[in-house]
Amino acid sequence: MRPATFCIHGHFYQPPRADPFTGKVPREPDAAPYTNWNERITAECYDPLARRGLFGRISFNLGATLARWLDEYAHDTYERIVAAERAVYQAHGAGNGLAQAVHHTILPLARRRDKICQVRWGIASFTHRFGHPPEGMWLPEMAVDLETLEVMAAEGVRFTVLSDQQVRGDLTDGAGPYRVRLPREREIAVFVRDRALSDALAFGMPAPEDTERWLREQLEWRCGRGGLVLIATDGETFGHHHRQGVEVLERILDGAAAIGCPPVSLGTYFREHPPQAEVEVVENTAWSCAHNLNRWALGCPCTPGDGRWKAALRRALDNLTSELDEVYACEAQRLGLEPWPLRDAYIAVVLGQVSGQAFLSGNGLGHLTSDQARRLLWLLEAQFYRQRMYASCTFFFEDLDRHEPRYAIANAVRALALTRYATGEDLTAGFRRDLRLAVSWRTGRSGADILDEILQ
Ligand SMILES: [Zn+2]
Repeated sequence: MRPATFCIHGHFYQPPRADPFTGKVPREPDAAPYTNWNERITAECYDPLARRGLFGRISFNLGATLARWLDEYAHDTYERIVAAERAVYQAHGAGNGLAQAVHHTILPLARRRDKICQVRWGIASFTHRFGHPPEGMWLPEMAVDLETLEVMAAEGVRFTVLSDQQVRGDLTDGAGPYRVRLPREREIAVFVRDRALSDALAFGMPAPEDTERWLREQLEWRCGRGGLVLIATDGETFGHHHRQGVEVLERILDGAAAIGCPPVSLGTYFREHPPQAEVEVVENTAWSCAHNLNRWALGCPCTPGDGRWKAALRRALDNLTSELDEVYACEAQRLGLEPWPLRDAYIAVVLGQVSGQAFLSGNGLGHLTSDQARRLLWLLEAQFYRQRMYASCTFFFEDLDRHEPRYAIANAVRALALTRYATGEDLTAGFRRDLRLAVSWRTGRSGADILDEILQ
């Protein structure tokens, strides 16, 4: 029997909130007394966790949009998080941070080249921030299919995390890791979280003074089976969803060793315990929807009201994507370039590692005229915004007429504008026509109404 050990993984993520034209986060009155939700959640959760050194004692992934915001607006907190991860990496030769597909896209619903781009951009963002490549990658909403895992494995990702209802097989090895065989002769490892235990903490958070009892009732008997016990939950559980969560987390980490179940990071555990048993993945599943990803596709009972706007909005975005991709690919091919690898490499510009001009020169494009260079950079930037339309939160909630879908449409507007600068071609009319079919069941407003409001 493997010795008992225990890990808490926190998924730290905020949807992008900045206006795609100004880059500024607008005032969010419901976040009072703070100016916006990022500020409020930083004060309640990210900052106290960082100050108490807890990012060095759990496993975590830090979404790219949140990381970028923290870097700019809460730099001390950001520095503490990064330093904690780097210290774990230096001490153990394996970090406790996981990368994340960069725009929090529901990857099984994305086309293959977008899966590749999101994974490559996620790896590049992680390496940029933490100074070493990731071994593990977090799947947005744990949404999984074999093609996504195969793309991740091809990019060197060694493991991910799924929930126990998403795998089939003998789970007597606890949280694993387990081997999953993939197409093209590849394989990847998955850690399997204990959903019941994760929910017991996220939705039944004890008072700090009850933590010892909680450990005995919830953790002790699970650890008695040996191997790894894994809780994986939203990082905001600690301090934001539950005010006492920061203190409870610290007490759990302190107390786990006392019941014979010392905490470990996923990276370290993976190094010491490579997968032995194999499981199968149940494709097109996620941790927050039991309806084959329909929460983000066709609508499902997870959200109240008429969810048909989701399919209509997704079709509008997909049609626009096809058109934007065609314009970009034509321009790239006209210049003798492979469009998609070039787009994958463009993350260096997004991260500010190189200027646009240096990026082109570095990719053997120093010979382009300034006109050609400008056009190509606009179209690459349009590809960035068109990928951001697909952040999972666009489709996560109940209605079209709220901030998140509006944000997706605003990113589309930005991609449309950049494409128009580059080619003179205006693709807005077709997009507006498709958006008329997406209608809010609460307010009766359509996606086209939202588009026109943004364009005003
Ligand atoms: Zn659902």
